[in-house]
Parts: sequence; C-alpha cells; structure tokens
Amino acid sequence: MEAMRTEVQLGLGRSEPRKGSLTLTWTIGAAALLFVAAVMSTVSNADEALASPIAPVSRNYKDVQTFMNKIVADNPGRAELFDLGKNSTGETIQGVKVGNGPIPTLVVSTHHGNEYGSTETAKAILADLAANPIAGQTTYVIPVLNVSGYNARDRYELNHDPNRDYPGPCGTDGPFALKSTDLLAKFVADKGIVTSATLHTFSPAVVYPWGISTHDLSTPYDAFFKQLVEAATQESHYASGNNTELIYPADGTFEDYAFWKHGIWSILFELGYSHSPSDSAVADLQRVNVPGMRRMLAMSPTQRAEKHDFTGQCDTRLRILDRRDE
Ligand SMILES: [Zn+2]
Repeated sequence: MEAMRTEVQLGLGRSEPRKGSLTLTWTIGAAALLFVAAVMSTVSNADEALASPIAPVSRNYKDVQTFMNKIVADNPGRAELFDLGKNSTGETIQGVKVGNGPIPTLVVSTHHGNEYGSTETAKAILADLAANPIAGQTTYVIPVLNVSGYNARDRYELNHDPNRDYPGPCGTDGPFALKSTDLLAKFVADKGIVTSATLHTFSPAVVYPWGISTHDLSTPYDAFFKQLVEAATQESHYASGNNTELIYPADGTFEDYAFWKHGIWSILFELGYSHSPSDSAVADLQRVNVPGMRRMLAMSPTQRAEKHDFTGQCDTRLRILDRRDE
C-alpha cells in the first residue's frame, strides 16, 4: 500500500498528466477501491457477527461459541479457534487466536460470570482484531473464562471467586481451586504472553499493578504503565492509574499474578457503569473501549518486564477493603 500511495501521489502531482500516467492512476484507483471494498466487507461481517436476536443479558456460552465460530469462518488465515481446556465442571473453555506475529498478547474476559458487558466487549475486540490483526502480534482472545458462572449470571465459579484464585505476593483465596484459573496460568506461561488485557465490569477505570494489599503500590514501570492506560482510555475517558488507588486492594487476581509471576504488561479494564448494561449501553462499551484496547495492545513491548518481583510490604489489614463487586 505504501508504494501504491506514493505512485498515486506522483501520478496526481503532474500538472499535465500524459495518457500513460492517467491509465496508471485509474488502474491504481480501481485497485484501491477493490481494497476498500474488501475491508468494508470484513467490517460488515464483524458487525453481522456481533448482531444477534438474543439480547446480551440473555446470551449463554453456546451463543459465545457460535460467535467465535462465525469469526473464524469469516476470517480464514487470520483467526483460529483453540481450546484452553476443560474446566472443573467438564465444559471446554475456548478462545480465538488472531494473527501470526511474533509478540503473543492476550485478552481474557469474564472471570466473573455476572459481568456480561465484559463478554460483549471481548467479542467486539475479537471481531475488530480478526478483521485487522495487530501487526507483529498474535493475540489470543478468551471471551469467557468462567463458563458455568456466565451461564448462571453468577460472579463465582463453584462458589470460588475466580479472580482471587491465583497465587499472589500478599496472599490468595486459592491458589488454583479452579481448573479454569490453572488452565489460564499454564496458558500464559506456555505461550509466553507479553501483554494482557483482562476485562471486567464496572467502575469505570483502566488500571495497572499493583492492586494488592499494600501501601507500596509502585513498580519500576509506573511511567510506561501510565502510557498504556492513557492510550486505552482516549475514547472512553475512564479514570486511569494504579489499581489499588482507583479500585480497591484484592489479593489473588489474574492481573497482579501475570505481572508478578512473569512480568507480563498486565492491564485491568473495569468497563462501564453497571453489571447489567442495556443493549445500548453494551454498544457504548464496545464503541468507546475497542479502539483504546487495540491501541494499548499495539504498544506492547517485544519483551516482558524484567523487574517484576514485589519488594514492598504487604498489609493484610487492607483486605477488609476488598469489596468483591467488580
Ligand atoms: Zn469482575
């Protein structure tokens, strides 16, 4: 496209174009139109895949699987279904791998089964990425981690809070009482995930580590993390900053585990204004968050963070502030 654009400019730049130059300009023009038509057709396929006669509040995991299958069918060579594995109740957790670039990135949603606004936002970023993968990246999108919770609109999975089930520097409910969290932990290790976005409702806020029970909230990477969350919130204008400062301390979460264990550039999205968004509120969640999520992922470094140990002091008295409602 770069070469094509240059030639178009050269052709149009002549004050008295000759016949050959005009023909070239028309040929390039026609090729550009075909390209635009191809992109438009992909976009409308994505919109069509997101559209469904079933309202977001009533969808179940089968509907999400139907959606993933459609995305894969509509985007051959760019999107591929994968199994994360079977959860504690025997359901297979699935996701879609998008693109083929060397930097592995992750979007994981619906640790909490009641947060269907996050599921719908994950589906929208998946449609966007499948139509146009981020250059240089392979992005794994898991719209629902907590399958039984999602089907029951229950925050918990088998009475465990999945996003307090990871090991962490200041404690955990678990670790790994659930197969879903264990599978995800193994997955990010196996794939060498470098940057991740984990999606929840609601605050609204987009935040970076630490989010644990401590007063020592800084990491050596605060400046870069700020750039990531600012990039992520340009359209949404959500609050952005440190996790514990903007939300509340929580021990055993995926977002802190990913950074603490591996140095993954781990960003938490607390989307929107409700756990039960209307259809139009869901459309808003998608509209204002997909561009920023995409921009933030595209800023992924090629490597994980090197200094990811927690060197501060835990203060477990802060645990009383964990509201477990986001
Ligand atoms: Zn949540």
